[in-house]
Amino acid sequence: MKTIATFSKPEEAHLFRTRLEAAGIPAYVQDEHFIQMNWLYSNAVGGVRVQIADEDLDAAREFLAHDSPQSPSDAVDVVCPKCGSHNTAPDELPRRISFLIFLLFNFPLLFARHRWRCASCHHVFRAHPTRTTEVGITN
Ligand SMILES: [Zn+2]
Repeated sequence: MKTIATFSKPEEAHLFRTRLEAAGIPAYVQDEHFIQMNWLYSNAVGGVRVQIADEDLDAAREFLAHDSPQSPSDAVDVVCPKCGSHNTAPDELPRRISFLIFLLFNFPLLFARHRWRCASCHHVFRAHPTRTTEVGITN
């Protein structure tokens, strides 16, 4: 058995397993029950592992190579809706204000996390970039 990906949450691991199986690669989720008992251990045991049989390794590599939503280059590519520039970055200021409000009122402003700022025209907009997940072949 080879570990093909690790996730911090069992739901994410199962979603990935479903996609592998849709591509014809039987996959197994490991350690999920241990992590469900105490999610704080997730990092200690290396997360919820998705494993495949050794003979499916080549098919899995092929799958990962064409699995664009998991690609890190796509994950950070947020386009400015105003000028079309790719020169964008997460807007840090609302995040700090959000954290301050959380400290003062114990009330998290979660929506502030999805604000992005364009470096070309300084337009601030909302975006939901694809989350980067650690995917790769390990033992
Ligand atoms: Zn712009």
